[in-house]
Amino acid sequence: MENILKHLIELQRIDTQFDELQLQKGDLPIAIEETRIQLKEKQERKEHYEERLESLAADRRMFENEIAAGKEKLKEYEDKLYQVKTNREYDAISLEIDTKKNEIEELKKKIDQSLEEETETLQLLEEVTAEIAEIEKQLAEYEQELKEIEEQTKEQETRLKHEREKIVREIDPRYIRQYERIRQAKNGLAVVPIRRNSCGGCFSAIPPQKIIEIREMHRLYTCEHCGRILVWIDEEH
Ligand SMILES: [Zn+2]
Repeated sequence: MENILKHLIELQRIDTQFDELQLQKGDLPIAIEETRIQLKEKQERKEHYEERLESLAADRRMFENEIAAGKEKLKEYEDKLYQVKTNREYDAISLEIDTKKNEIEELKKKIDQSLEEETETLQLLEEVTAEIAEIEKQLAEYEQELKEIEEQTKEQETRLKHEREKIVREIDPRYIRQYERIRQAKNGLAVVPIRRNSCGGCFSAIPPQKIIEIREMHRLYTCEHCGRILVWIDEEH
């Protein structure tokens, strides 16, 4: 049992070191993920504005063509107006001319509306393009920062992983399972030393008789309050 406990202490030491290395990366991995999502949203918005601009410009060109055709028609009517022989014919062509002029006016209004929306959309496009550049810059900074930390910690991580594999092979799987269960439930800390006659995890007092038993290392003791595995480590006293 003494060996199992010593291995578990060692395992906890390795895992704590590993957790501390991860902590050095801080919120960077999350920040990177969030920034990427943000970037994607902005890029989609940019595409939307670009498509809208294309569609507005295409409509506007269509209106312009319709106006050109309308003006030609108008000229034909006006020429005809000089050749009419009766009042009835004159009235009929005059009506055609008015209708055509109204149509052209309507098309001009549509062009103005389109130009207005194109200006607004162009403004939005410029804004989102600037935002994208800003986000991309931020993302590059985060990624560079993380890369530097990872380069620094990579060697230690590899060493710890190797040490962990070795120690895990030495421990009966059911103790590993118990250890992992407690570690998951208790914020990464499954094996704790006794400090000042108390549990090193939850700080609740431990009866002197139990401390003596724990020091003997004849069996595995867990804290009655937090359920962590209690051990005696000389350096902690
Ligand atoms: Zn405890």
